[in-house]
Amino acid sequence: MQTSRVKAAASGDKTYTGKDCKYKHGGVRYTANGVCIKCNAMGLRHYRAKIADLLKIQTTPTPRTAAASRGAVHYVGKECGNGHNGLRYTSTGDCVQCQAERTFAYKMKMREALDEARAANKQAAD
Ligand SMILES: [Zn+2]
Ligand SMILES: [Zn+2]
Repeated sequence: MQTSRVKAAASGDKTYTGKDCKYKHGGVRYTANGVCIKCNAMGLRHYRAKIADLLKIQTTPTPRTAAASRGAVHYVGKECGNGHNGLRYTSTGDCVQCQAERTFAYKMKMREALDEARAANKQAAD
């Protein structure tokens, strides 16, 4: 059985009228691939917009990538969960103040441990 597509191909037509697409574009399709010509045009537009979006996302620098390209150690990003001012390390993205507090807490702990150890040693020596 000869479909309208086969007939169009046989007579060298670039398009033929087949089944209407789901968007009711009227059923005019490309003979070569059977795709609705309007869907095809929309698809291309959609595809190009998507690519443009992707490129935009990649080329828009965040404060962190901008700082990294400048070689800066810190950058101002989003405020952290502890309400600090948003100053962060470029390399890790960590809040500078949180990091400092963690380091301070660690040092305090170490000092306490050291003091305890010294006290224990003293007792042992007595
Ligand atoms: Zn269509
Ligand atoms: Zn913080």
